This record gives sequence, C-alpha cells and structure tokens, in this order.
Amino acid sequence: MTSPTPPTRIGFIGLGNMGSGMTRNLQRAGYQLIVNDIRPDSAEALIAGGALWADSPAAVAAGSDVVITMLPTPRHVEAVLHGSTGILAGLADGGAWVDMSTSVPEVANRVRSENAARGLRVLDAPVSGMAVGAANGRLQIFVGGDPADVAWLRPVFEAMGDPERILHVGGHGAGYAVKLMINQLWFSHLVATAEVLSIGVKAGVDLATLRTALIASPANSNFIEHDVLSILNGGDYDEGFAIALACKDLGLSIDLARAVGVPAELSGLVEQIYRRARAQYGDRAGEMTPVRLYEELIGVDLRLAPDTSPVPTPAAGAATAAATETGLAA
Ligand code: NAD
Repeated sequence: MTSPTPPTRIGFIGLGNMGSGMTRNLQRAGYQLIVNDIRPDSAEALIAGGALWADSPAAVAAGSDVVITMLPTPRHVEAVLHGSTGILAGLADGGAWVDMSTSVPEVANRVRSENAARGLRVLDAPVSGMAVGAANGRLQIFVGGDPADVAWLRPVFEAMGDPERILHVGGHGAGYAVKLMINQLWFSHLVATAEVLSIGVKAGVDLATLRTALIASPANSNFIEHDVLSILNGGDYDEGFAIALACKDLGLSIDLARAVGVPAELSGLVEQIYRRARAQYGDRAGEMTPVRLYEELIGVDLRLAPDTSPVPTPAAGAATAAATETGLAA
C-alpha cells in the first residue's frame, strides 16, 4: 500500500562519485538524510550540513522513509541487504528500497519474492549523466516499479535529476534493463565506429572527409556526430568513466540477455573487445580506450586537424555543446 505521506527522511548508502553529488542535492532540497558508506570520511561534508550517520544499513533503514542504494555492482548491493545489519533487517513492513545502481533485476526480484508478505515497496532507478550530472542535479533516471510508488517518490527523484528526463519505463527491472541497453548500444557504436574509421583511413581516405560522408549518410549516429569528437579533437578517452565499470556494465548486459534467453553475439564480441582494452590499458583507463586498440593496429592516431575557420558558426557551437553534455555512456 502506498503511504499518502510524502517521504521526508531519506536513507542513502554509497557516497562515491555518484552518491556524493546525489546526497548533496537531496540535502539542498530539504530532505533529512541518514547515510552510510564503508568509508565514513565520505559523509563528513553531509554530516556538517545536518545529515545523520548510521553505523549499519539496518540502522539507515530503521531511521528513514525510503532507503536508496548507489553501489558499484549487484554483489555490493546484495552485501548491504542481508543479515542482522542489512537493510531488510531494519526496514519496517511496507518500507521502501530504491536501488539506483547500474545492476540486474535478480537481486531485487529475490528480495520481493522472499519478502512477499511484508508489503515492501521496491524500485529500480538507475541513472545516466555521470558524476557531473549527479553533482548538478541533472541526472536522467529510468524507473522500474509500481506506478503509485513511482509517483510517491517523484519529488525525491526530481531533487537529483532533470524532471523532463525522469522516466517511468515499466514494471520491476525495466529501469535496470533500459540503462544496460543504453550503455550496450553506445559501447557497440563506439567499437563499430572505431573499426569503420580505421579501415577507411587505412584505405587512404582522409579522416575528416570520411566522417563527413558518414554523417551525411543513413549510417550516421550520435556517436560519430558528437561523442567521438573527444578523441578526434583532443585524444580524450574519457577517464571520468573507468573502463573497469564499462566492462562491468557490459557483463551485466550479457547476464540480462542470458536471463531472458536472447542470444547476444554482437554484445558478447563488444564485451570481449572492451576486456582486451582493459587488460591492455588498465582498469582506470577511459571508457573510450577500445578506440586505441584500433589506432595501434593501423599505426595512426585518429585525429582531426585543428579547425582553422576564423569564427565558429552557431551550428558548430551547438554540436560541441551537445557532445560535451550528452557525450558519454555513463
Ligand atoms: P563509486 O565506486 O565511486 O562509489 C561507490 C560507493 O559505495 C563508495 O563510496 C564505496 O565506499 C561504497 N560502498 C561499497 N561497498 C559498500 C558497502 N558494502 N556498504 C556501504 N558502502 C559501500 O561508484 P560510482 O561511480 O558512484 O557508481 C555507483 C553506481 O552508479 C554504479 O553501479 C555505476 O555503474 C553507476 N553509474 C556510475 C556513473 C559514473 O559516471 N560514475 C554514471 C552512471 C551510473
């Protein structure tokens, strides 16, 4: 049953790159926070701003109207749920848990089925927008769950995200699926674009000419038009989103495909190419470093010559802004 009282006390577990910005925005919006992280120092600024510290996930749950988790992987989420110090031990019957991590539905499905009699409200609400979107409250949020629960929590989401881009995408698990499919398609675009540009350049076509022709063709994509420019213009492979996390997301995509019984040959190949780049360049390399594999293969850095036109046109400026804002998979 949905509580008619709007939530005011938010429990938040996971104060990392994303969670730190999200909690700051919740605090600014006037919510009482009760927080936990395995790194207590990550809560210092929040506590100075009036947040309460809880020693365990159970204590977070006991003191809040809704508990939000923002943790690296399903394994980390599982770790804060169970046992005498876990969220489920502290949550009252009818209590609410929202997982905003990029994850797969299994963990939440198990929580719902094993606690069916308790009337828990469980939502998945993963996000896009990177740490900068978390910091400035402009995240895109994909919510899966019951409509009444989504409506009840909408003001909480709006404190962290762009109201226009907070989407209720379906029932339980739909949020996780949408987020994973967005990342999967973007990573696939990246690998396909790297391959095509490398072959074309190796065949003797000028890079700028090739890109212009692709943009003007039915094969155009947001990736080739905008996102690849961070490499082509500046050799920036986006260390803001580590390839280790990209590989995690790709692995979860494959897990999801397996769980629903759909072969994922192409996604599997993209995942392997990402894993090769991770092995070669390290966990902290940027999410776009698979392009470097191709550059090394052809012995050419894919770079555009600096733009020598005297004054940028408004259209070119808009394209650059779009690349910066919507750029990357995270
Ligand atoms: P992060 O590693 O920066 O932060 C995770 C936090 O969880 C850390 O502060 C860590 O100490 C804490 N933590 C880990 N285990 C814990 C436990 N058992 N109990 C309490 N705290 C624990 O990760 P992040 O970049 O904030 O990402 C979080 C999630 O958001 C991931 O699923 C990621 O894929 C997703 N995501 C990240 C980005 C991005 O750009 N970084 C963008 C969109 C989505």
